Amino acid sequence: MKRTILWIGVGVAAAAIAVLITLLLTTCVFENHRYAEATCTEPEICSRCGKHLGEPLGHEYLPATCTEPEICARCGERHGEPLGHEYLPATCTEPETCSRCGHTQGEPLGHLFTEATYQNAAMCLRCGYVEGDSIVPDCEGMTLNLMDVGTPYPYTTASYEDHDVDVTGTVEIVDHRVISGDETFPAREGYEWHVVTVRLVFSGEDAQQNGMQSAMTYGDYYRTDAEVGTTVDENGLRPFVVEYYGTRVQCWQKTCEDEEGGWFGHELRYAWKEGVLVPCGYDGTLLIFYHYRLAKDADRLFLPAGKVLDEHALVFRFR
Ligand SMILES: [Zn+2]
Ligand SMILES: [Zn+2]
Ligand SMILES: [Zn+2]
Ligand SMILES: [Zn+2]
Repeated sequence: MKRTILWIGVGVAAAAIAVLITLLLTTCVFENHRYAEATCTEPEICSRCGKHLGEPLGHEYLPATCTEPEICARCGERHGEPLGHEYLPATCTEPETCSRCGHTQGEPLGHLFTEATYQNAAMCLRCGYVEGDSIVPDCEGMTLNLMDVGTPYPYTTASYEDHDVDVTGTVEIVDHRVISGDETFPAREGYEWHVVTVRLVFSGEDAQQNGMQSAMTYGDYYRTDAEVGTTVDENGLRPFVVEYYGTRVQCWQKTCEDEEGGWFGHELRYAWKEGVLVPCGYDGTLLIFYHYRLAKDADRLFLPAGKVLDEHALVFRFR
């Protein structure tokens, strides 16, 4: 009897334990919830009883970009719209470019070059980029006897009596002034006068016997084929043309009356003023003394510079 009671007790206890274990494993009566991890939109939720704990995490949006909206780093949820590119205008060398992400579209505009001139290299009108060099002057690299002010230079030309006989004296540019104008040299808007006093002196025996015949012309450092007019107007102005910043510009030259001329003892001496009226800043005009023999068959002395610029010519550059 005692043994029977004992076994019943054991059975009841076992059943009770089984029930307890079952309750423990299948229900939450002991607050033994089985929470799933919270997500962006759900709190922790018990998978058995559905009880909620805490709050949803909320999305962790990464900032929108040019091509993507805000996107949750955790769940990939998308929000809003992409920002779109913010294109900066195309330039000569760069296409339209997004200031945010660097994306490009289209093509660079390319430079808009001006023509090179004697004064300037080709330059882009849009961005100022300079390409190459200015046009090489015709006289660059030429051996020229360039005269300084205040120095007499030996000058050989033909004698007056016999053009086949040479005589040698000197040419000196006594002074060089830049003025807007005066009563001798009429001013002109946008132009300046370069005025020099020239002195020729011949004192040798050959000149005393046969005299001398000088020859002078004007030229241009940049273009030796620059035109020099053959006639003078009522003011004594002789036109010539230079090319300045790519444009043909009318200029004038004036040869004044001799201030002194003739024999002074044994010296044959001439002094007079030469002036050129050129656009302000123009530096290409040349005054050239050459051997008269080069001109004697021509009907004028103002030969084109290209014909007389050689290593014997004496050249003064107005600049
Ligand atoms: Zn639960
Ligand atoms: Zn999310
Ligand atoms: Zn962009
Ligand atoms: Zn450019």
